[in-house]
Amino acid sequence: MKSSEIIYLDNNATTRVDPAVVEEMMPYLTEFYGNPSSGYRFGQKVGKALEVARERVAALLGCAPNEVLFTSCGTESTNAAINSALMLDRDRQHIVTTRVEHSATLKHCETLAKRGHEVTWLGVDERGQIDLKELEKSIRSDTAIVTVMWANNETGVIFPIHEIAEIVRKKGALFHTDAVQAVGKIPLAMSESKINFLSLSGHKLHCPKGVGVLYANRKTKFAPYLIGGGQENGKRAGTQNVTGIVGLGKACELAGAAMAHEDTVVKGFRDDFEKGVMEQIEGVQVNGDREHRLPNTSNLAFDGIDSEGALMLLDQHHICCSSGSACTTGSVHASHVLQAMGLSDERARASLRFSFSRFNAADEVAKALEILPKVVSKLRRIALAA
Ligand SMILES: *Cc1c(COP(=O)(O)O)cnc(C)c1O
Repeated sequence: MKSSEIIYLDNNATTRVDPAVVEEMMPYLTEFYGNPSSGYRFGQKVGKALEVARERVAALLGCAPNEVLFTSCGTESTNAAINSALMLDRDRQHIVTTRVEHSATLKHCETLAKRGHEVTWLGVDERGQIDLKELEKSIRSDTAIVTVMWANNETGVIFPIHEIAEIVRKKGALFHTDAVQAVGKIPLAMSESKINFLSLSGHKLHCPKGVGVLYANRKTKFAPYLIGGGQENGKRAGTQNVTGIVGLGKACELAGAAMAHEDTVVKGFRDDFEKGVMEQIEGVQVNGDREHRLPNTSNLAFDGIDSEGALMLLDQHHICCSSGSACTTGSVHASHVLQAMGLSDERARASLRFSFSRFNAADEVAKALEILPKVVSKLRRIALAA
């Protein structure tokens, strides 16, 4: 299989590494292998590269460089924020989150609940939105942290994060947002915000896998998750993933420059695709709030199809996308996100997620629009015959 043949419409799962990111990383793989913590110039040169990357991430987020901690992935960042809040105040051990979080938060909170922490799970309406009044009421005097994702990875639905952060701050708890899907796609404008912690991940942003960031507000106390050396200002031990971090800095710089493109060209791919699907295929519904949605994501339910079958047929045409179900230990579960929105199991199992990026092209959208109607009618024929 040649990667040039692939029509990659699964950019919320991971993204193609930007060649400019690779170029930025190369010298740190080959020539400059010094330890950034070493005192001599050969190490300090690498240390300086980390600081340049930190400034670039801070510029994209709109925060101070010393609020940027480099981690190994988005999952580590979300875990670290929640754990810090629980560690710092024995009297605050309650957590508030939503039913539609990524498994990085969901499974962590489920595990914490099994260990005795009380967790409040906020539901969503059919558009995938939470009720802010309910959120406000759920915050108690013993709430350690409220964690709500900025944008949903399955539906692209965007939560009003600044508003939520205000509510949480007024009620005296800490607030973390999993912004893995939002960074680079929508402006975050962190400078005035009441957010305490924010997580992002490199590989959703055209950087290689295995590097992430935890934004930790400088006035917010932080208890480290990884303990050891004094790296990252004593807040995250372990010798840094220098090449990944250098790449992430570049990826953030490029994402800032491409933000307008995201809202025009990438959104155009998504909108053209959705319009084409609606015109050519009957019985299609958009899942999630169309008004507050990432510009790159389209989650569609196709009446009477099985999404797992659709993935296989699309794969034969080199089209990559995701289904509204997850295969765990052999059985297929309808997506927890679509279920939380109150969609039937049947509709959830008939849903596909298409997610675009600046590395897609108009001819790929056209090709997908040529293949998809055939795949859907084939599956509908099979379902009728069964
Ligand atoms: C991908 C993703 C994560 C996990 O990031 P990793 O770097 O893969 O650990 C967390 N949250 C959301 C919303 C994601 O899409």
